[in-house]
Amino acid sequence: MPVERKGRWTLRTQLRAIIISATVSMLLLGGLSTWRIRQFNQRENALQQTAIDLQDNLKNNFANTQLLREIEAGLPLYMHSGKTDTFNNILSKINTLQHTLSAEIKDQVQTFRKKLLILQKRTGDLRGKDDEIFRAERNIVQATDRLLQSAGAQFIFQIQNLTSDTCLKHHHLYNTVLLTSEPKKLQRTVQEYEALFNATENELKNIAQQLPAEQQKFIDNILENFSDLKQTVTAIINIRGETLATKNEIEKIIVDIKTNIASASITQAESSSTTMDSVLRLARNNLIFMAISLVLAAFMLALIALLLNQSMVKPLLAFSDLLQKMTRILTGLRKESEFEGEFSDLLTSMTDGRQDEIGQVATAIENLLKRLRELAVFRQAVEADDTSDEIYQRLARTFYYKLHLKNFIIFEALENKKEMVSILRHLEDNFQGIPEVSLNEDCRARRTGAMVSSFSDPHTCSFFPLGEQIRYVCVPMQVSGQIIGIVQFVFLPGLSEEEQRNALQALTQARHYIAEALPVLQAKRLANRLKIMATEDQLTGLYNRHYLENNLDRMVSGIKRRNSSICVLMCDLDHFKDVNDTYGHDAGDKVLIQLAKILLNAVREADMVIRFGGEEFMILLLDSGQETSREMAERIRKEVQQYKFRIPGHTIRMTMSIGIANFPEAPDQGIWEAFKLADIALYHAKEEGRNRVVQFDHALLHRSKKETSVPEDSTNTQAKDGD
Ligand code: GH3
Ligand code: MG
Ligand code: MG
Repeated sequence: MPVERKGRWTLRTQLRAIIISATVSMLLLGGLSTWRIRQFNQRENALQQTAIDLQDNLKNNFANTQLLREIEAGLPLYMHSGKTDTFNNILSKINTLQHTLSAEIKDQVQTFRKKLLILQKRTGDLRGKDDEIFRAERNIVQATDRLLQSAGAQFIFQIQNLTSDTCLKHHHLYNTVLLTSEPKKLQRTVQEYEALFNATENELKNIAQQLPAEQQKFIDNILENFSDLKQTVTAIINIRGETLATKNEIEKIIVDIKTNIASASITQAESSSTTMDSVLRLARNNLIFMAISLVLAAFMLALIALLLNQSMVKPLLAFSDLLQKMTRILTGLRKESEFEGEFSDLLTSMTDGRQDEIGQVATAIENLLKRLRELAVFRQAVEADDTSDEIYQRLARTFYYKLHLKNFIIFEALENKKEMVSILRHLEDNFQGIPEVSLNEDCRARRTGAMVSSFSDPHTCSFFPLGEQIRYVCVPMQVSGQIIGIVQFVFLPGLSEEEQRNALQALTQARHYIAEALPVLQAKRLANRLKIMATEDQLTGLYNRHYLENNLDRMVSGIKRRNSSICVLMCDLDHFKDVNDTYGHDAGDKVLIQLAKILLNAVREADMVIRFGGEEFMILLLDSGQETSREMAERIRKEVQQYKFRIPGHTIRMTMSIGIANFPEAPDQGIWEAFKLADIALYHAKEEGRNRVVQFDHALLHRSKKETSVPEDSTNTQAKDGD
């Protein structure tokens, strides 16, 4: 029977599923890890780039700040000296700045540059005004000198002091104008200038009123020059104011540039720190991811180990246990009853719900053991059977009901015979046409000792009469090299492939059952033979006295029940001793064998021929009348007389004397008494000259008492036939 597959989750499938899921998970984890590491690498590169940028930026900023500081320091110098070199120096630095700064800052530098050019112009303007101031001062001095030469002494010193004092104050203020960088202070200077010039003008005008007209014109001249000076100074102060404003603007721009540079650095640093932060966060996430991956991988390994243990290792261990137990049961070391207990439980636990190879093998073992057990039960039953017939009947029932082999004939080899005769025919209507034959040496299965099947070739055995119409499978029953029978299974032709397969499977099992029955059948045959040997005369094959003794009671009770009778014929060869003496004991045996056949042929099937002892035979004619019995005895006597006994080198003739007695003579007569009477009759037959039949008569008893000795009949002994 094929192992039934319960499902598709076999061990192989489970193992494959575990490997695939583990591989997929590892690939997923590996892929994710690689992706994360790549991502991290990219971020790390970005971070490196940011750091480099930041470094460059800081370096540039430092350089630019340095440049700005130099420009800052150079500006007052230029404003003070107005030297072209200084200006060019500042300008080149601004150019350098413009190359290295960002576009936004570049615009500011551009403005800065424009303002610087304005500053240059204003400084140039100032240079021109210096000459005007100098000229105005010289004019004032010359006008004062001219007044000095023409005027009286009383106002000269006063005027001289006034002008020189005013000039001194003017110088002082002018220096302040030139040096101050505060617009308020410059504004105050304008007021002081106003006050100074107004005071000088008023005083000069007061003095002029006291002077003659020709001298007044010098004063006017001085006043004019003061007025020029005043204008020039006012212009200078204006320029100076503008210059200062420009300078302040420039400084503001520088501050802005510095701020911009600083803020650019800060932005850069911030972006670096953001990148750094993200890289660090990524690194931390990666670490967490790795840790989770490790935990997951470990968990998965543990799960796989658990699965393997649960679905393979444990069942395999249980399976090996099962195999050990099975081996012990099969080798007979443990009692079969154990099968019912833990072993059966173990098997059930392994077959129930298991769909894998272990379940399949366990199911196969279960089926195998079930079959072995059925065979064992069958064998036990067969061993308990009394006769071969019972065994054949049991086999027939097994074929029919268990294996569904419905048509078969069991042939059995007869003792000492060459044919096998059918002793059990189990055939449905379709097969009734199979003739009842006995199997001789032509039977192929018998000849070869192997199973013969006509499924593949209808003519495989020429002996089978209906090869075309009927398919047959002949299974020899072979034991110890001897074939004791044949089981012939028959089928209708045209079986489907499946039916044929089922039939062959059933036949395989049938052979197992036959094999189980064979030793017992053989034992029965041997026992039967022993029994026969015990009740059969070895020389002649007739029943012996032992058989008679065993069956007598049954026979007698049957006779009494039927109210019938037995006729006892006691037969004895005449002068048999002479045969032994003349031709030897073997020749004597041959005579006895031939006589046995004569006697057997002479009687009916219901009658019984017994070798009573030596050359003495008893025939029991059942349910036979007195006259018929006597006739029968007479016929036997004649047959013996006429028969030519063949002994080595000769044929001889013999005669036989027969004594007859009937049973029951009286209601209380015992059978042994009848034997005795038959013996007496025989004695009288011998007495009366042998080769005759004497019926017992009570008169014989009287005759026997009168005669004290039995005279020898020497005339009618044995007739010898020449060869
Ligand atoms: P009678 O006519 O008076 O019966 O003479 P008989 O010689 O037949 O009788 P007897 O009883 O003197 O001899 C019987 C002989 O049969 C003696 C014995 O040796 C012989 N005998 C008995 N059993 C066997 C046997 O199985 N085989 C052979 N060959 N001889 C046997
Ligand atoms: Mg005798
Ligand atoms: Mg005799």
